[in-house]
Amino acid sequence: MQAEVVDQVSSEAVPAGAQRRKQVVVIGCGFAGLHLTKELAHEPVEIILIDRRNHHTFQPLLYQVALAVLSPADIAVPIRAIFSKQKNVSVLLEEVTAVDTHEQYVVLASGTKVRYDFLCIATGTTHSYFGKEQWAKLAPGLKSLEDATEIRRRILLSFELAEREAIEKGTHPPLHFAVIGGGSTGVELAGAISDITRLFVSRDFHHLDSEQVSISLYEGGPKILASYPDDLSYSAAEQLKGLGVNVHVNSKVEDLQPGYLVVNGKRIDAAVVLWGAGVKASPLGAMLNVPLTNKGTVIVDEYLNPPGLKNVFVLGDLAAVKENGRDIPGVAQPAMQMGDQAAHNIAQDIFGRPRRRFHYFDKGDMSTIGRRAAVADIKWPFKAHWSGLIAWLTWSTVHIAFLVGFRNRLGVLASWAWSYLFSKRDARLITGDHTLVGWNHILAEGEKGEAHAASLS
Ligand SMILES: Cc1cc2nc3c(=O)[nH]c(=O)nc-3n(C[C@H](O)[C@H](O)[C@H](O)COP(=O)(O)OP(=O)(O)OC[C@H]3O[C@@H](n4cnc5c(N)ncnc54)[C@H](O)[C@@H]3O)c2cc1C
Repeated sequence: MQAEVVDQVSSEAVPAGAQRRKQVVVIGCGFAGLHLTKELAHEPVEIILIDRRNHHTFQPLLYQVALAVLSPADIAVPIRAIFSKQKNVSVLLEEVTAVDTHEQYVVLASGTKVRYDFLCIATGTTHSYFGKEQWAKLAPGLKSLEDATEIRRRILLSFELAEREAIEKGTHPPLHFAVIGGGSTGVELAGAISDITRLFVSRDFHHLDSEQVSISLYEGGPKILASYPDDLSYSAAEQLKGLGVNVHVNSKVEDLQPGYLVVNGKRIDAAVVLWGAGVKASPLGAMLNVPLTNKGTVIVDEYLNPPGLKNVFVLGDLAAVKENGRDIPGVAQPAMQMGDQAAHNIAQDIFGRPRRRFHYFDKGDMSTIGRRAAVADIKWPFKAHWSGLIAWLTWSTVHIAFLVGFRNRLGVLASWAWSYLFSKRDARLITGDHTLVGWNHILAEGEKGEAHAASLS
């Protein structure tokens, strides 16, 4: 069958003799693609925004969905709704599978080709299991709403199993949660599991023995939150310990099997294992046939173009950009700033005006540790290293401010207030498979273990 070719999507009839508008194809509506499209939509261009999901997700609050504090709808907005008033933005729910920079088109999973005058690729990163892809079903990572609800399902089901067993037998086996990776995601997940255990498990599960619940964080390097200054990294470890999390540094996870992990040669049983240890770039970067870093991110110049491709912009987590000789981190602020910058330079090109170089305005970094603590390395509007409650208040204010849509901001504020005032967790719904198969570590060996792992995939 001949593939469809979308040459030009136009919101308005182009008068005879008039020049057609430039067509900008944007792949990915994360922070970079969203900011770019919002900025560029005011210019005389036609934008085709393609994402394989129908929603923009506010990833920094994903772990709050995973840990049943917020509902998915609090942190995600349908992309179509964001651009409903922008007639020159066409939204396509599709996966891009290939890019041809010579003929200037992208290929969709359906086989359709979409031509571009300018192409912006902002498809981010995905989990990396360092070549051990079989670990993915045993230890889910956190990147999407689907991941968040799967993590929530496993954690809540493990409490249900323990409760059932305590009712049936008068006791239940130890309930160990293992989080792999001491970066922001791992630290935030470990702190939040501690909260959920202390705040509602003992109240709602009348037979569960909280003394038998433990949480461990395993980090291969010598410190957690390695990108933070030493004092904040130390403070984060202390705050986690205060929440009852066992923090293990220099602890390399060597194997994962249903029900247990092997750390520095030692087998450790775990009911739920979560992954926050590594990411790799979206495969679209490699399709440009340009130099990549060893993580697969695309090396771009000061205008965010890969070498020799002046009408292709690579943005956000997928772009490898240096500022004063240092790599710009894969976090939300640079992604938003790159989106704004690329939009500006596309407009400059259209009007024949000079481009502006990209400069990252670093306002600092923050990570939460449970529901009342955080660390904040603030660089703007003043310099400060904060930890504890003040850092948490700063973190929550900033995150609410950057949420897309008034409804979401109000929803998150209301959910947090409700949760903090009354220690309620209304989002504690288990969705997906409810089967209480049995304990992972009871089923660890042989076929049963594999059957159980398959049931979790
Ligand atoms: C759990 C978690 C917590 C985080 N916490 C923080 C934080 O506290 N502060 C902070 O600054 N940053 C945080 N980050 C990092 C931040 O979210 C990312 O840096 C940011 O989302 C990167 O934006 P992006 O636009 O490059 O990519 P993304 O936001 O990842 O968006 C990529 C988009 O591309 C789409 N896509 C991918 N491949 C295709 C394809 N082939 N075809 C079509 N569409 C495709 C995806 O569906 C997605 O919508 C966190 C990330 C995670 C996962």
